[in-house]
Amino acid sequence: MQYSCFGQKMVQRSGIAELMDDLGRSMSGAGKMLMLGGGNPADIPEIQEIWRTEMRKLVGERDLFDGMLCHYDTPQGNPRFLEAVAGLFREVYGWPVGPDNVAVTNSSQTAYFMLLNTLAGDFADGSRKRILLPLSPEYIGYADQGLAPGFFAAGRPSIELRGDHEFKYHVDFDNLALGSDIGALCVSRPTNPTGNVLTDDEVRLLAQKAQAHDRYLFIDNAYGAPFPNIIFSDAKPFWDRNTVVTLSLSKLGLPGTRTGIVIASEPIIAALSSINAVVSLASGNIGQALAMPLIEDRRILSLSSDVIQPFYRRRLDAALQWAGEYFDSDLPWRLHTCEGALFLWLWCPGMPLSSRAFYERLKKKGVLVVPGCFFFYGLDEEWSHRDECIRINYSQPEEVVRPALRLIGEEMRAAYLNR
Ligand code: PLP
Repeated sequence: MQYSCFGQKMVQRSGIAELMDDLGRSMSGAGKMLMLGGGNPADIPEIQEIWRTEMRKLVGERDLFDGMLCHYDTPQGNPRFLEAVAGLFREVYGWPVGPDNVAVTNSSQTAYFMLLNTLAGDFADGSRKRILLPLSPEYIGYADQGLAPGFFAAGRPSIELRGDHEFKYHVDFDNLALGSDIGALCVSRPTNPTGNVLTDDEVRLLAQKAQAHDRYLFIDNAYGAPFPNIIFSDAKPFWDRNTVVTLSLSKLGLPGTRTGIVIASEPIIAALSSINAVVSLASGNIGQALAMPLIEDRRILSLSSDVIQPFYRRRLDAALQWAGEYFDSDLPWRLHTCEGALFLWLWCPGMPLSSRAFYERLKKKGVLVVPGCFFFYGLDEEWSHRDECIRINYSQPEEVVRPALRLIGEEMRAAYLNR
């Protein structure tokens, strides 16, 4: 079979696709593996019970049930859901948005495939534009989405060292090149993989730059406020007409519904609706139907801030305590300040082992993480830091995370001592 350029691009074995296969195979192998490699949200029984209750209500009411399953909605989403989302953001943040500023997609992953390729790639005038990631490392899920070659340009961050074992990335505005070859800017906030949350000032400056160049700034809010609110800093959500904010129901415990939400100016929403009509006809109704009552009566806010956020905060605090116990304090390791999302980002300066080799050694010991090198795409320059980090999902139960951190500590010591 001969693939088109599109086919080749989508079918090729990217590094991360191979790695995900490897993670999957390792989990289904004979030995018991400690899985700290995925991005799956944790099971939160109280939240899962709420979704079961909402589903029972839907099943019990004929009109609601038939409405959910028996017809296509508009390509933009269910009109009542769009108004519910717009109303929430108007009320909570005062954003001047209405239903024409909201679209629903089959997952935020799909939203990015459509958005990124609509504003970057090949243009009719023969030019080619790229997506600028102002702060690398960035979410691996964008890496293979661009249909044109050389799709991403990334900015190397400045690094603030904090105490002996902590650090934080910042956008290096002095070296941020927003030239005519840039079609849009994109950040995840909180950031997957680092747990970084761009400061309010950083976001304001990025938005100003985007506006000055008549470009859009995408802010991927998959973990942020007001839902699911897996965010531990007091950074404020941001939107203006040059900003596209995306949200997801996944980290609310509904990854199976594949529901993404986009808040943007009318032209972006109209473009997304057209593309969604071509690609999907309409988005799935189930996530919208399940979440709508909680958005309308604002329970989604209290559940996010009173249940989901404290749950992850407890898991994070426990993981940080175990890392402090098991990682040798004489070694130069550092963890990125975790301000949100599900991950600890471990940097081992000067470790004489690549992140991929460290991953392999950990896998042999029964611990699965993600090598950091995959998150630095779009960054052309040589930089040893990109091969000195690993991503660790801290959100699983103690019986998984604690022994895994102990083994990571042991392997880190062995690697530094060249054993
Ligand atoms: N954006 C970020 C930063 C993510 O971490 C993820 C998933 O883990 C997504 C987007 C995709 O989420 P969804 O399940 O809505 O496709």
